[in-house]
Amino acid sequence: MNANFFAVLQQRFPADRDTPVLETDDGVVWTYGQLEALSGRYANALSQSGANHGDRVAVQVDKSPETLALYLACLRGGFVHLPLNTAYQPAEIDYFLRDAQPAVFICRPDAREALLPIATDVGVRSVLTLDGEGRGTLPALADLLDAQAVTAEAQPDDLAVILYTSGTTGRSKGAMLTHGNLTSNGLTLVSEWGISSADVLLHALPIFHVHGLFVANHTILLAGGRFLFHRKFDAAAVLRDLQRATLLMGVPTFYTRLLAEPGFTRDTVSGVRLFISGSAPLLTETFEAFETRTGQRILERYGMSESGMITSNPLRGERKAGTVGRPLPDVNVRVADADDHPLSAGAIGGVQIRGPNVFKGYWLMPEKTAQEFTADGWFRTGDVGCFDADGYLSIVGRAKDLIITGGYNVYPKEIELEIDGLPGVVESAVIGVPHPDFGEAVTAVIARKAGTALDEAGILAHLKTRLANYKVPKRLIVVDELPRNTMGKVQKAELRKRYR
Ligand code: AMP
Repeated sequence: MNANFFAVLQQRFPADRDTPVLETDDGVVWTYGQLEALSGRYANALSQSGANHGDRVAVQVDKSPETLALYLACLRGGFVHLPLNTAYQPAEIDYFLRDAQPAVFICRPDAREALLPIATDVGVRSVLTLDGEGRGTLPALADLLDAQAVTAEAQPDDLAVILYTSGTTGRSKGAMLTHGNLTSNGLTLVSEWGISSADVLLHALPIFHVHGLFVANHTILLAGGRFLFHRKFDAAAVLRDLQRATLLMGVPTFYTRLLAEPGFTRDTVSGVRLFISGSAPLLTETFEAFETRTGQRILERYGMSESGMITSNPLRGERKAGTVGRPLPDVNVRVADADDHPLSAGAIGGVQIRGPNVFKGYWLMPEKTAQEFTADGWFRTGDVGCFDADGYLSIVGRAKDLIITGGYNVYPKEIELEIDGLPGVVESAVIGVPHPDFGEAVTAVIARKAGTALDEAGILAHLKTRLANYKVPKRLIVVDELPRNTMGKVQKAELRKRYR
């Protein structure tokens, strides 16, 4: 049997391909047949543009049904899909293209002029365009081609997707996910959350990240359900459409924003059977305010790019606020000490995982990959957690100082490196401080050279040209020196306390 994840999906598509698969926020309906046909045309277009089996196809485009078709086309053609955050600036794209060496790069038409020289320099064979309305040189080429395409043969262990995740050193790492990883995690979630063809998922997440790309897309497509496909999260638009939905998947920020809408009531969500939250911690306060307002308890789950989903609160049974639930049926999770020895319930330690969902390693980083796995084959997630007596996991911290702002991960190092290179700066420490809307706000504490005055507006303007907007500090704090411990390490915990 072909283990290509597209083949798995296609087998489960509704027999009647005229069944709707999605409706956009401006009311355009797509059927399963249309999505399938476009994936075939795009697969043929990619191969005509120089993509061969196993080649990477990098994609930085706005969310649209066509973008979903493009993802499916990559799977179908046996190309490795490499989605890039739409907020990335050219300097960041330069790194990803250089690292991943894709055969084809698809970007927004208005970004082509800035990105073409970069792509050419790293040897990309074709640069194609796609805009948010489904226009561009990719669709123009695809229009001339057949909708029939052979689904490439794949083994479970073959690469399907590379998701870049920020690294502690400031350099992103490409997590390599296989067809087998996607299949096992998708099927597990469908059964755990009882997803069926009757489900209508309000999909307002970006589709360049594990949450929107895998969790949302895979569960609905595997079950033959339907999306209300929103380009982005807009609280008023989501509120309107929730009346027709049965499911919502969101980052915690979605839920705090919905709660800020006076029209968000028990009645507006009476048809929704399940609200799911993940990608960042859901505050107990939000969980409780949500229950008071709607009578529903949000289901919180935990996962990461390297593994898809790991634990989940139950569909039936107690959903405990402040916990991320129990390990999924086929995923092993342990909390271990610094020597990788498993700890018992109640003890805090590093969260380690093993299972068919766990990735193959970091792209071109065999040493980094080896470091992140224990001698007995468990992956170190970098999260710090604790099991309770009922087997529910709580994430209590992050081993690596990760900041999560609005559901996006930011590793301080990358921003510190940018700031430290600026004139008048001695060094900097970037931290997350609690923020009512974003969960955490990126904050930079900068030590200046004695006798210099720093131009804060100038620093921010510079960072905006170098970094995706969500990574740019919300606040700069200039100091004479950073606090350090006796080992010479900057005391970030102290800074977090001081500026919270
Ligand atoms: P990403 O690879 O972008 O999905 O980020 C994965 C990281 O997000 C995890 O390692 C956790 O630190 C964090 N994360 C995801 N879900 C949760 C959750 N429900 N609660 C707390 N942290 C979470």
